[in-house]
Amino acid sequence: MVLEKLGDSLKNTLGKIAKSLFVDEKLINELVKDIQRALLQSDTNVKLVFDLSQKIKTRAKEKTPPGLTKKEQLINIVYEELTNFLGKETHEIKIEKKPTKIMLVGLFGSGKTTTAAKLAKFYKKRGYKIALLQTDTWRPAAYDQLEQLAKQVGVDFYGSKEEKDPSKIYQAFQSKLKNYDLVLIDTAGRDALSEDLIAELNNLNKLIQPEERLLVISADLGQAAQKQAEAFHQACHVTGVIVTKLEGTAKGGGALSACAVTQAPIKFIGVGEKLDDFELFHPKRFVSRLIGMGDLETLLEKAKEALTEEQAKDLGEKFLKGEFNLIDLYQQMLSLKKMGSLKKLIEMIPGFSQLKLPKEMLDVQEEKLEKWKIAMDSMTKEELENPDLITAERLDRISQGSGIPVSLIRELLKQYRQSKKMMKMFKGEKDMTKMMKKMKGKLPKGLGM
Ligand code: GDP
Ligand code: MG
Repeated sequence: MVLEKLGDSLKNTLGKIAKSLFVDEKLINELVKDIQRALLQSDTNVKLVFDLSQKIKTRAKEKTPPGLTKKEQLINIVYEELTNFLGKETHEIKIEKKPTKIMLVGLFGSGKTTTAAKLAKFYKKRGYKIALLQTDTWRPAAYDQLEQLAKQVGVDFYGSKEEKDPSKIYQAFQSKLKNYDLVLIDTAGRDALSEDLIAELNNLNKLIQPEERLLVISADLGQAAQKQAEAFHQACHVTGVIVTKLEGTAKGGGALSACAVTQAPIKFIGVGEKLDDFELFHPKRFVSRLIGMGDLETLLEKAKEALTEEQAKDLGEKFLKGEFNLIDLYQQMLSLKKMGSLKKLIEMIPGFSQLKLPKEMLDVQEEKLEKWKIAMDSMTKEELENPDLITAERLDRISQGSGIPVSLIRELLKQYRQSKKMMKMFKGEKDMTKMMKKMKGKLPKGLGM
């Protein structure tokens, strides 16, 4: 798996959010700390991590967009900011001009030759006619290596075992250009970006005038990838980056974020030694996969569902003591919703069907429940625990923060008070008949009997 460790840490962190009852500043700070830790372990540059943290914190203060809960908003912010962090857009190379020439550059062992073959396979699948050209005259084995790979992919191969001048190799090939849609040119590397390498690449560049110059860079460089990418960009104007070996290093997050801040965008990633271990770099999809967006959505759904047994027991006890709060009320309504309508439930209990329970309590519609939840996300922990604190002034604040009308929030508070009254009446009452007598005789007026 690519960036497994980083992915696991981020998944854990966001899972915490999905499972938490409400979002407050403490939770946001914890989230940001967790993300910082995960990225630093992935060798991401400290300044980049700091900037990202600030962005998440600032955006977490934004008003929750309609239709989203605070939790969903927060997870979405992390998703969007991580996507920006890793480059935002997908940069596909379109084969519009024929032939399109792509030159691969990079240091020894970065994966140029392998990547040339991977690209050939990638575009062959899309129906293009492709040639691979070897101009690396430094490594004796380079010719054979690419020839072999070309055979494997099933594309034409050119090069020379004797010629030492890469420009001459290209000139000898030039007359064949017109036969192809795409020509992929492998070049020689060095241990470091030397004057000698820069001169060689610039010569080739002038001669070939490729549509794309792609820097091939290994992910295990971590944040050091930034310097290398910038140096190559300055020296030979690379038009994009291919980050290789992403599957085999813990430093991949650092390498990707480092390249994302350079002038040359990441266009592809290499994720294994096999020719199919190669993909277009889609920052959005990549981050979705990394943080398990699909799983998170399921988790958020599940968190909306009814309580665990333990929570239900707690809640039951709280009801009987008459000391439950808004969060409890919400959970109670959710579990009722899950069990089906309260009306149906009551019909099934002998004797209960004759009781007239407050109409509002029976008809809590899903839509209203959602809105109440959004309003509750704009309440403070204090307010949730003790709704009596909610003054008219606070009511306005909550309404503005959540975009839910004051009247709807008042309804929620009314429902809360009614339920509380009712629960107080049941206090300590275990005998069903006694309880019913009590209800028939003494239900408070406000309960709509
Ligand atoms: P070059 O010197 O830049 O041409 O690099 P090569 O293409 O010869 O690759 C050097 C080594 O890296 C080879 O063993 C490749 O199999 C390996 N390699 C290239 N890309 C990847 C990748 O995405 N993942 C892994 N695990 N290995 C890769
Ligand atoms: Mg090579």
